[in-house]
Amino acid sequence: MNGMVYLVGAGPGDYRLITLKGKQCLEKADVVICDYLADKRLLAFAPENVEYIYVGKKAGNHAMRQEDISQLIADKAKEGKCVVRLKGGDPFVFGRGGEEAEVLKQNGINFEIVPGVTSAIAAPAYAGIPVTNRKVAVSFAVITGHEDPTKGKSDINWEKLSTAVDTLVFLMGVGNLPHITGQLIKYGRSADTPAALVRWGTKAEQEVLITTVGKAAEDVIKHNLKPPAVFIVGNVVNLRSTIQWFDNKPLFGKNILITRAREQASRLTEKLEELGANCIEAPAIKIAPPDDDFTSLDSAIAKIREYDWIIFTSTNGVERFFARLNEKNLDVRALSRAKIAAIGTSTAAKLKNYGIIADKVPTMFKAEGILDVLKEDITPGTKVLIPRAQKAREALPQGLRRMGATVDVAETYCTKMADTNKAQIKNLLQNGRIDMVTFTSSSTVENLLKLIDNETALLNNVKKAAIGPITAQTCKQKGLDVDIEADIYTIDGLVDKIKNFRG
Ligand code: SAH
Repeated sequence: MNGMVYLVGAGPGDYRLITLKGKQCLEKADVVICDYLADKRLLAFAPENVEYIYVGKKAGNHAMRQEDISQLIADKAKEGKCVVRLKGGDPFVFGRGGEEAEVLKQNGINFEIVPGVTSAIAAPAYAGIPVTNRKVAVSFAVITGHEDPTKGKSDINWEKLSTAVDTLVFLMGVGNLPHITGQLIKYGRSADTPAALVRWGTKAEQEVLITTVGKAAEDVIKHNLKPPAVFIVGNVVNLRSTIQWFDNKPLFGKNILITRAREQASRLTEKLEELGANCIEAPAIKIAPPDDDFTSLDSAIAKIREYDWIIFTSTNGVERFFARLNEKNLDVRALSRAKIAAIGTSTAAKLKNYGIIADKVPTMFKAEGILDVLKEDITPGTKVLIPRAQKAREALPQGLRRMGATVDVAETYCTKMADTNKAQIKNLLQNGRIDMVTFTSSSTVENLLKLIDNETALLNNVKKAAIGPITAQTCKQKGLDVDIEADIYTIDGLVDKIKNFRG
């Protein structure tokens, strides 16, 4: 009863550069055996109960011998399991994937190879350097930079290699540059040939060093550039001055702490990462059922057809309302009599997903503004339902009641502290590894402070970005200066402000 092994290329760094097939393999894995270079975020694709084994090899620190790794893969498969062997870049490009496949074959175990995007091509690409170019380079070679120079005899034919191929890409070569560049020059490559090192290519921490073959070894020491990096030699390096596209994005190099409910963090993260930021998600809050266990919502749903107006105040409120409605075996037709107001365009957009076009969409977030928009619709006796978060501000229902309406407030959800790796977040803050923190509601402020045990000093050198005036006010009340405040109180509005922030 043998299992199955997939030797999967994880891609060069950015976890999104895995292939669709690689992701599918992870989704059905029982065991994932992982390298130093494979991004931990890929593990999120695997089932929750997956067995995860780290066999990482870092330069100079061999966690596990190759023979033992190959044996481990075979043993796990013999237990009948689906094993994903995840390897940085492509498994067959200096990944020793071939050796692992041989051992599997010898053991009679079924396997498949899932190629990956190799760092040899992707790291240069993310530095704006194409390995070939019709006018500049018609050939490229990928070479190990790891050869032991004291070995005496080299497996690399330096004499032919040095001048026969236009672009040379060395992997694992950072510690060996004096030898590599010495050989290249000795066998005829000009010392003036443009060269580049790309460290952690495709990732938010990418570093690029532009140099020449003659100067590379000393420049690497001068700039203290560490592995992992690819070393690129050839005239294609000059193209970076025109093609550079990744590490000049507006937020490149910025580390941003996102405090948001987990369900919503991804959109903000996605948008900031598109702009080049490195986002660390600390889901300070999560969405949970209200403390009254839906008592107020259920009684509102029981008489849902009596309401003249239903006012939705947040996307979460919309989602949770319809989830509960469906649990009661009702659908959107139950709302057919009521007029609908959505506060804010995101709330209106969320309603559209349920087939509802809101009758009114007040975009101001202060109760007075909303009341102003609704004043012609609300007359004495109008029955209003507000499905919303527990512990929301009272100004809106109170204002409506003053206008003569009968108002029911139904609690559809509450926001709770999520279990987050507290120590990890505090550690990043202590070490100055966070440039900015985002707050998308007052409770994210409160919850982040809880997470860091109210040590506001940890945030002294961190820029604070708030989604709107109410959140900003909460920050100030808690003794946090706000550096960025969105003018339009939406995720897009916040992202736009962060993008244009200088300081
Ligand atoms: N199979 C991998 C290479 C493994 S050898 C691939 O196809 O990419 C390990 C070497 O790859 C490192 O020493 C470094 O030279 C290179 N490397 C891997 N990921 C890299 C990255 N994100 N940026 C720069 N170099 C990288």
